[in-house]
Amino acid sequence: MASTIERGAPPNALGSNMSLKKALSAASPLSLRIVAECPVTKARACDLILPHAAVSTPVFMPVGTQGTLKGITVDQLEGLGCQICLGNTYHLGMRPGPDLIEKASGLHGFMNWKKNLLTDSGGFQMVSLVELSEVTEDGVKFKSPYDGKEILLSPEKSISIQNSLGSDIMMQLDDVVSSTVTGPRVEEAMHRSIRWLDRCIAANKNPDRQNLFAIIQGGLNAELRKKCLEEMTQRDVPGFAIGGLSGGEEKDDFWRMVTLSTDHLPREKPRYLMGVGYAVDLVVCVALGCDMFDCVFPTRTARFGSALVPWGSLQVKHKQYAKDLQPIDPDCHCPTCRRHSRAYLHALFKNDTAAMHHITIHNISYQLTLMRSVRQSIVEKRFPEFIQAFMKRMFPSPDQYPSWAVDALTSVNIKLE
Ligand SMILES: [Zn+2]
Repeated sequence: MASTIERGAPPNALGSNMSLKKALSAASPLSLRIVAECPVTKARACDLILPHAAVSTPVFMPVGTQGTLKGITVDQLEGLGCQICLGNTYHLGMRPGPDLIEKASGLHGFMNWKKNLLTDSGGFQMVSLVELSEVTEDGVKFKSPYDGKEILLSPEKSISIQNSLGSDIMMQLDDVVSSTVTGPRVEEAMHRSIRWLDRCIAANKNPDRQNLFAIIQGGLNAELRKKCLEEMTQRDVPGFAIGGLSGGEEKDDFWRMVTLSTDHLPREKPRYLMGVGYAVDLVVCVALGCDMFDCVFPTRTARFGSALVPWGSLQVKHKQYAKDLQPIDPDCHCPTCRRHSRAYLHALFKNDTAAMHHITIHNISYQLTLMRSVRQSIVEKRFPEFIQAFMKRMFPSPDQYPSWAVDALTSVNIKLE
């Protein structure tokens, strides 16, 4: 499929060689159609055309696999209107292994998932889950938790696994540093991530049907981020992710790095903010110009009995719901809220994992519905009003609005009332 991109003016000086890059651009299995742009903020609504159908953005992407499905089946995910979900390369690459998945017609066939899939590089999980990991120029070295063998995850190996999985969007292997680390290690990781991006691009065997996204690094240092943006936007990749955030840094640093990144990313390519999934963060980061999001939070918190609602969260384990026959959210149309009461879920939670399953479905539905409402408001040119109403509902009073959110929204011309 040819790349049909909007021919907007480059957003800034870093886009000065955009026309050259467009001329050099090979056919890619992705196209982005900008449906509407908010006249006030940097928010936009797009149709992202991928090999397994179109995705309406802004979009939240649930995690569809973690080796085993946690709390939700692909049929249920599809029933909620999910157009793209994540597969974990690390788990799938270890077990059952890329060869078996390739035999099963890729991860789509293996999972029986007909919509789009995004796979991560496997690097982040390795660094965060495996204690004995070591990063060198070759890649990430670690001991397999299954048999103790030493394994090298190189950029080439990561892409080879993701080629076997057959995902619609693959992520480059990047050198991941915690967002709270400062100093020369951050600069080293940023430069290495650029070199690894080039190795990933060269290693991709299926550029005609699998999209490779670059990951912008640079920690919380604006100069390093800009340098990384300048270098990576010169590569012909179909999309960009903003990485290295959402790891415990100050929210004030977080939103400034997000908005700096979207200022320098090309308008005509999708922007994926990794690891962000709290409702307030999603809405604010859409205002800052991000299109795609993922986070384990909605499913993880469900397993602790916490249901996401427009006024925050509802802990079904609390005594106050023991005799409450309302659904989690009376305005929610998800299968859980259509069938079950708070009292039922409260009783079930005590001795049955099915309760977690019902709450997981509700929470994913909440995220997808929130993003659909955000998109609708952008298309109808009332996104600023949407944010005002959203914040009023989420917090008991304006003096409880988080100051970072107030500052971030002020930076894109929304003054919260
Ligand atoms: Zn619900």
